Amino acid sequence: MPNLPGCPYCGSPKTTEGEITSCQYCGKAISRLTTIQQKQSRLSKLANEIGRKPPTKEQMMELGELTLGLGQTAQAVNYLRAVIKQDTEGAHPRLLLCLSLLGFNQPGVESSVHAREIGLHVAWLKEHYVDFPPVRWLSYYLEMQRLSRTGDWPRAVALGKQALDEFPNNYLLNSMLAAALLRFGKTIGLAKADYQMALKYMKIAVEMNPDYTPAVRNSHAIEKKIALLIAKHEG
Ligand SMILES: [Zn+2]
Repeated sequence: MPNLPGCPYCGSPKTTEGEITSCQYCGKAISRLTTIQQKQSRLSKLANEIGRKPPTKEQMMELGELTLGLGQTAQAVNYLRAVIKQDTEGAHPRLLLCLSLLGFNQPGVESSVHAREIGLHVAWLKEHYVDFPPVRWLSYYLEMQRLSRTGDWPRAVALGKQALDEFPNNYLLNSMLAAALLRFGKTIGLAKADYQMALKYMKIAVEMNPDYTPAVRNSHAIEKKIALLIAKHEG
């Protein structure tokens, strides 16, 4: 669960300095960030308001946003699927559903279990909202994830660099580029400079989202590897 105040709609951490105008992950205009406690108390209040009545579409949407922000992605998926059934034209519920299915705010739970459902929504989003920045970064991320499964790290590196030109502060894209630079784990033959390059991006991911534990863990592992290589070289 995230510890830092984040976007009230998708829960992502604040990643840009200065005045917050819109969330770089979900694209919503935001005037303030909310803490986990604020999200939890709003969720209880909303549950009381709803009571035994079936929730309205707006209430269902807010339930989806709050549970996603709290890292309760399984619940978020159910709420957001229900919203999309009623609101087939909106980008926001589909984007949040894709993030929920990807395990957003639930680091470590990355799977391709939902690849088909995500693929359907992303195809729809690209058809209707192709220039919407959240659709663009998500497309980059998913394509790199696909390349990681096929092991095509050279293309993933090229795509990752292109993605970071557009979204330099996106922690998921930074973390994915670092993984691609480490050839998705096929590290035989990598030199110190390769690890140092990967570390640079992995550290940006940590800086942008200190709650994202895979990047924290991987940064430490890369630093250790670099220290070993230096020791070997000197010894
Ligand atoms: Zn957001």
